[in-house]
Amino acid sequence: MPGRSVIRTALDILYPRRCPVCHGITPGGSLICPACEKRLPFISGRRCRKCGKPVSRAETLCRDCASVPHVFTQGIGVFLYDEVMRSTVSAFKYRGRREYGIPLGVLAARAAAPALRAWRPGAVVPVPVHAAKLRRRGYNQAEVLARSVAAEAGLPLLTKLLVRRKKTEALKNLDPEARRKSVTEAFGTAAGVRCPERVLLVDDIYTTGATADGCAAALRAAGADRVYVLALCIGGGYLTRY
Ligand SMILES: [Zn+2]
Ligand SMILES: [Zn+2]
Repeated sequence: MPGRSVIRTALDILYPRRCPVCHGITPGGSLICPACEKRLPFISGRRCRKCGKPVSRAETLCRDCASVPHVFTQGIGVFLYDEVMRSTVSAFKYRGRREYGIPLGVLAARAAAPALRAWRPGAVVPVPVHAAKLRRRGYNQAEVLARSVAAEAGLPLLTKLLVRRKKTEALKNLDPEARRKSVTEAFGTAAGVRCPERVLLVDDIYTTGATADGCAAALRAAGADRVYVLALCIGGGYLTRY
């Protein structure tokens, strides 16, 4: 039987890996070009201790987490949603670059490794997309990411546990209360799939946490005790403005 590296090399020739930042073929089958990796906006420094958003020196919680209680336990974001990530995520999500989820998931799992060690989740669960969107796009980008995160972190992946019952399109036009109601109704869990006590929810972008809370509420109702959130990117998009 040929070794893994031989198979990998053969696959690289057939399907050369493309860099999620410059879209070129990566050198030697690496995940990302070394120069492009340097351009990635890894979040470092102080973070909101609830959602993981960058905060100033004086804050322990971001403005949103200080004013709106969350259903999820704790979260971490890997990248700022800047111009580089906007373009990468847009290719991954809307221009069919499904394979970008693999290197992005590996980078996310590596960056979040200390949090994952502390949280000890029993399974990785992607934020589900509505069936109509799944048909249109062909894949759920959060599931592609979650699969890569689970493989890199050595955790089981549960893709059938959490389900999306309703579309939640116009969230940004709703006030926080209406938004919460809308997302809580949008998610549920499938009967017959056991929910672990500690779940790691994976999504591509975290903004206000409304989606994460909707998922966390459904997972808690199914028996989860702690719901952690790993977001590839963390955006601004504060609910509370002042
Ligand atoms: Zn590149
Ligand atoms: Zn926060």
